[in-house]
Amino acid sequence: MLEIQGLNAWYDASHVLHGVSLTVEAGEIVALVGRNGAGKTTTMRAAMGLMPKVTGSVRFDGHDLLALPAHARFRLGLAYVPEERRIVPGLTVRENLQLGLVATSGKIDMASAIDEIALSFPRLKERLDQQGMTLSGGEQQMLAIARAMIARPKMILLDEPSEGIMPVLVEEMGVLFRRMRDAGITLLLVEQNVEWALKLASRAVIIDQGEVVHESSAAALLADRAIQERYCAV
Ligand code: ATP
Repeated sequence: MLEIQGLNAWYDASHVLHGVSLTVEAGEIVALVGRNGAGKTTTMRAAMGLMPKVTGSVRFDGHDLLALPAHARFRLGLAYVPEERRIVPGLTVRENLQLGLVATSGKIDMASAIDEIALSFPRLKERLDQQGMTLSGGEQQMLAIARAMIARPKMILLDEPSEGIMPVLVEEMGVLFRRMRDAGITLLLVEQNVEWALKLASRAVIIDQGEVVHESSAAALLADRAIQERYCAV
């Protein structure tokens, strides 16, 4: 579904990714882990078309993405939930969800899409007319994920979704991600909560100093404390 080959990325003169290659097959969850500043967010931003300078190749669902702007990548079915949730102040939960449909040019019926999404997010269903900014941190994260899902993407890039969220909601999120995977949505999951991510994922990739340093099944990495300690600061 997503094939990244030899990806290099820069912030101005600062060269932060050095030939990153990774593949995510359709319908799987892949965990992308590594210590702070390793290049995980940059990898997602580069895949989504949000980095100023990138070389290499990014293929998604049979398309070459590198020359395409972010909104064109989104229209092909690639969605991104950044670490900062970007709930829009002054808008209700329902209005925030509607923003997720803006780039779909009216192809998806808003009312039925919101009904559909509410089935997967009962906490949001009860709060559709509440101001988005008054939700708890965990609920805001759920809203950010729901807003990405509402356009029915094929794949979602999730940057630290469990960060700052109380354990009961993290568990709920895990159930949701498994359900999404079972519905055929492909997930790339960047996480500091390594154990949780490895239990959800089928495969794991570790990035360190802008390079991929390890790739294995998630179960193999879960069992390998030494590699986790070396690269994931656990
Ligand atoms: P974290 O878990 O802390 O978010 P990360 O693995 O996602 O870490 P990145 O955010 O991709 O790491 O950062 C990779 C490198 O790029 C780091 O050295 C970081 O300091 C640098 N970097 C990130 N954003 C910028 C920016 N806007 N301008 C310049 N350098 C940046």
